[in-house]
Amino acid sequence: MSNAVPVSPPSVGSSLSGAVAILDDRARALIDPEAELVRLTEGGIWAEGPVYLPAEDAVMYSDVRADRAMRWSEATGGEVWRAPNDNTNGNTLDREGRVLHCEHNNRRIARTEADGTRHGLVDRYDGRPLNSPNDIVVRSDGSIWFTDPPYGIILPEEGTPAPQEQPACFVFRFDPTSQELTAVSDFLVHPNGLAFSPDESRLYVSDTGGGMDPADPRHVVVFDVVDGQRLEGPRVFYEMETGVPDGFRVDIGGNVWTSAEDGIHVVGSDGILLARIRVPEVTANCVFGGPDGRRLFIAASSSLYAIDTLTTGSGVACDVAGQVAAAREGGTNHG
Ligand code: MG
Repeated sequence: MSNAVPVSPPSVGSSLSGAVAILDDRARALIDPEAELVRLTEGGIWAEGPVYLPAEDAVMYSDVRADRAMRWSEATGGEVWRAPNDNTNGNTLDREGRVLHCEHNNRRIARTEADGTRHGLVDRYDGRPLNSPNDIVVRSDGSIWFTDPPYGIILPEEGTPAPQEQPACFVFRFDPTSQELTAVSDFLVHPNGLAFSPDESRLYVSDTGGGMDPADPRHVVVFDVVDGQRLEGPRVFYEMETGVPDGFRVDIGGNVWTSAEDGIHVVGSDGILLARIRVPEVTANCVFGGPDGRRLFIAASSSLYAIDTLTTGSGVACDVAGQVAAAREGGTNHG
């Protein structure tokens, strides 16, 4: 079954109907089949790394190849958040609500503080520069997990060409307290997106190696997380026929909402494809947000899109958003 019917992107502020295809009845609890996909921004080159900023009810995302970060809110529309942007790719929130970044150009993980200053957290492993950190997630213990494929050192439009000095493309765990950086897996060719299951017993990581070499994988792998520190038992969770799974998020029910060439694939925790959301541009990543956490924001090539869902995301960034929303509600109730 293919839903790859070419559809032109609607104009900014307009929406597409018919974007949702339900493939398994379980999906009806996750998204209304009549939900419309609205285009929020335009004019980018390669939109990636969306993060929801709950205090501002805004989404910030990287336009990796235009070397800028964009911000969208209902009040302001799309605007530049930061430029130049060190060819930053993935972004997320830590437990304190600070934004963490994967910088291709500096080959490091960085953090923006509450006062707006930005500084690097880690840029070397075993005495040598990282490849080019791509995507990032924070565990409830505060540890920072990220992937390190080579795109920022092999694609001139995404960073600065340089020899790879790491012996593999690792998945890393960084402890910001001890400053210890641990390579937790070398299993993937090009590890890319990553997210924990709601109970953090499993870590999903996509492999986009097939985007460069057709012989390489185009799938999402799942690991068991042992003692909150190690990964064991990798197995293929979801395989793609075309395109690659880049960034993704996991909802509170454990379903994986992964980017695909043709949009978003919603995959049950058993690996069964439940629904597709067709997006009219090549899709790189997504994030749950909005005041109730039920809106899925989708970064796709030139644009940011959004579609309402019937669920919310899981993980530290979503927990922070929920706390901000609860505080806002409490403040309202108490005048
Ligand atoms: Mg990515």
